[in-house]
This record gives sequence, C-alpha cells and structure tokens, in this order.
Amino acid sequence: MATSLQAFRSLIEHSPDAISLIDPDGEVLYASASTTKVFGYQPEELVGRNGWDLIHPEDRHQSRQVLQQVFYEPPGPVRWEARVRRKDGSYSWVESTVSNLLVEPDVQAIVVSHRDINASKAAETERQRHADEMARSNLELEEFAYTVAHDLREPLRTISAFTGMLIQRMQMDGDNKEMAKFIVDGAARMSTLVEELLTFARTGKHEAPGRVDLQHAVAQALQNLAVDIQATGAKVTVDRLPVLESNEIELVRLFQNLIGNAVKYRREGSAEIHVSAQRRGLEWVIRIEDNGVGIAPEDHDRVFKPFVRLASRDIPGTGLGLAVCKKIVEGLGGTIWVESELGAGSTFSFTMAAAEEGLQLRNAQVAAV
Ligand code: ADP
Repeated sequence: MATSLQAFRSLIEHSPDAISLIDPDGEVLYASASTTKVFGYQPEELVGRNGWDLIHPEDRHQSRQVLQQVFYEPPGPVRWEARVRRKDGSYSWVESTVSNLLVEPDVQAIVVSHRDINASKAAETERQRHADEMARSNLELEEFAYTVAHDLREPLRTISAFTGMLIQRMQMDGDNKEMAKFIVDGAARMSTLVEELLTFARTGKHEAPGRVDLQHAVAQALQNLAVDIQATGAKVTVDRLPVLESNEIELVRLFQNLIGNAVKYRREGSAEIHVSAQRRGLEWVIRIEDNGVGIAPEDHDRVFKPFVRLASRDIPGTGLGLAVCKKIVEGLGGTIWVESELGAGSTFSFTMAAAEEGLQLRNAQVAAV
C-alpha cells in the first residue's frame, strides 16, 4: 500500500499538469511542483491559501457551480475552464479537472488538476474575432447593397416614366426616337439589376423553416416561368420529390432560377429539363438536368459568384441568379454544384437535410436555447 501511495505521489510530482489538493472550502492543502509553471507560485506559497481568491471574479460563479456538482457526483471528474491569477498579477486560461476524493481514506481531499490552455484559448479567440469581423462586414455589405438598390428604384422609375412621356409628347424623328428608346431600355435593364440585387441582399433573412413539399415548390416555379416555357417549347419532366423542413419562398426561387436558366441557355431547338431527387444518407440530392449549351469545367465554381456571366450580352441576365441560388442553399444548410461539359448539357445539384433530420436539428436547437 505504501509503495502504491509513493508511486501515486511520484506520478503527481512529475505530471506536467499542476495538481493540488483542496478542502471543501477551497483551502489549498497540497500543490505539486508543476504549480510554478502554471501559476508562477512555488507550491509552498499556495498551501494554506484559499484557491477561490486566484480565480478571475467573472469566472468565480461558474467555477463554484461546477464544484457543487463534484459534491453531488463523487468522485467526478468534472472539467471546466477559468481565468486564474498568476503570481505576477496576469491572468492565464486554465482547464481544471476536479475529482472528489474526500471519502478516500488516503487522500480525503478534492483533487484538482490544472492545465495551461492559454495558447489554444488565444487561437480560439482570434478565430472567433475573425469570424465575427467577417460576419459583421458581410452584413454591412448586404445592408449597403440593399440601401443602394432600394434608393435607386425611385430615380429609375422617374427616368423611365418621363422619357416615355417625352417620346409621346414630342414630335421626334427616327434617330431621336431610337436614342430615347435606348434610355428606356437602359433604365429597364437597370431596374432588373436593382430588383435582383435586392433579392440577393434579402436572401437568407427568411422566417423559421416549415414543411415544404418540393413537388409543390417546382409546380409554383413552373407556373412563374410559364410564358418562357410555352414560348420556347421547353419540356420539363419532374420525378416524385420529397417533403423537406425548409423555406418555401426560397425553394420556389431556387427552382425558378435553375429551371429558368435551363430554358434560357438551351441549344438550338427546344430544351429538355428533368428534375429528380435521390436520398443519400441523412440528406436528399435534388438534380436539375438540361440538354443545353453546357458550361466548361474551369467555370463550374465561378458561375456561382455574383455578376459572373458567361453568356453573350444578347441574352438578358444580371449574373446574380446562381449567386442567389448558392446563398439560398447554403443558408438552408446544403451545398450546390454543377456538372457539365461545353455543348453537353448541365446538371445542377443541391443537397438538403431530410425532413426528419431537419426536425431533429431544429428540436436540438430549441432544446439548446
Ligand atoms: P445570368 O443568367 O443572369 O447570366 P446566373 O448567375 O443565373 O446569371 O448564371 C451565370 C452564368 O452561368 C450565365 O451567364 C450562364 O453563362 C451560365 N449558366 C447558368 N445556368 C446555365 C445552364 N443551365 N446552362 C448553361 N449555362 C448556364
């Protein structure tokens, strides 16, 4: 027994973690040699002191709560992180693991093992600061885009309306009429761009998710595209699609942009478009396949960036459609990609969590709040 106690002591003395024994009031009964490395104090300087005094005032309450747990759940261990004052007055982040060995005849104390986690805390704080900064600057950019687009609407309407009135009222010759028409067309194109910018800025600010029947979302998108589909003779076939935990307005827009593009970027003759769904583990993969002009592999990632257009200027568009799709899908927790070759059609695919998964995730989030 004596040998095992000696071995235990030697283990404690050589541990890289600072190990201390405290009584239920927090008084330090013993501190190991590594204490100096973590706290800057010699072990004998700590013995007899109250450990609570060393904990940062903001972390004391939580630390007390953790220690309470150890009393109810002997022998633990319970782990927590807190800032601890070093001998030089600076604070260090320390991870402490506590075991209640009060009833162990050989120990009769609470055993606390402290580890310096300053480096990992600093890296975590830096990562968090960076993420917060990115989120803030993205938000600012979105708000800026929204305000600019919103405020451009009014003057644009004025330009269109008054140029229209001028054409009607003035006796213009052919050249002047054509120039006035350029103004009206330019203002109309800018209006479309402004509306899409507003859509882009608003995407993701949706209500809480609800159950969405994708069959219904596609039918709605097809109805919105009916004029173009009829005019071009496009054929759209739709497989049985699942019901998901998602946002209906955004899914209708997603299908509308993807099917609309498949109609717009068709080859000679009419477009053939197929919408399908495949279950893959905990998620669904939804595919929109067309037999259109296709996209070269080097452009597959680029096309999802705002304002990237590969099409000729004769085909109307702003280059925001796929950027909106990406924002919608990623905002709903999925990913989107394209598989295609030039001249060989394109397949746009995106993933969405299956309904049960989505529900579970939601419940977990609610439970966590
Ligand atoms: P827009 O259609 O307004 O140009 P998008 O962001 O929707 O903007 O698309 C970006 C570019 O990707 C388009 O200009 C086009 O060149 C290409 N593209 C999108 N969808 C398809 C498709 N189904 N087939 C071929 N090219 C496509």
